[in-house]
Amino acid sequence: MGTSVDSSVGLLLIISGPSGVGKTTITHRVRVRLGAVFSVSMTTRPITQEDTDGVDYHFVDETTFKLHRDAGKLLEWAKVFGNYYGTPRRPVEENLDNGRLMILEIDVEGAIQIKKNMPDCFSLFIEPPSEEALLQRLRRRQREDEQTIRGRFARAKHEIDRARDCGVYDAFIVNDDLDTAVDQAVQAVADELERRRKS
Ligand code: 5GP
Repeated sequence: MGTSVDSSVGLLLIISGPSGVGKTTITHRVRVRLGAVFSVSMTTRPITQEDTDGVDYHFVDETTFKLHRDAGKLLEWAKVFGNYYGTPRRPVEENLDNGRLMILEIDVEGAIQIKKNMPDCFSLFIEPPSEEALLQRLRRRQREDEQTIRGRFARAKHEIDRARDCGVYDAFIVNDDLDTAVDQAVQAVADELERRRKS
């Protein structure tokens, strides 16, 4: 708590991490602590009971998604678990122009695309304390059957390896204790803003 951030400096913050690592909770808390704006992605995945359309995602059909993508209205896009996800371009550009801190919660492939086009972004990757801990968390969510959990676990391991190899992430944060992980993420952003102000 108490980390002050100068909101007159626009910054694009990417937060990635495998499913089950707690990144949605971390992203939410970091957004509140830093007074940041969350980029609402467009997706073709079916809406669940936990989702609010227009808040968590813009839920669209595949035709609509592809129309936006092909018209250049998405900053990046990726296919994750068989569904399309993408970042609407306009809100990101407008908020950055207004000096806001903009948070994108996207996968590694999306982060690689953003880094290529907007190298000024700052990227955090949330990791589980261990593979075993991640598997346990995926099981504890009781959202999916064992086969789906295994599939998510395999993809998570691949995503962690890819994140380490791709050179896009500025910091890796281990989510062992949630409060500590949030503090570390907030501190990393505050340090980065301070560094940029000085340079
Ligand atoms: P979920 O459906 O569980 O909310 O998200 C599945 C995965 O898609 C997560 O890894 C999430 O970070 C990623 N994701 C969500 N929105 C976007 C987006 O706009 N672009 C990309 N590339 N990935 C996204």
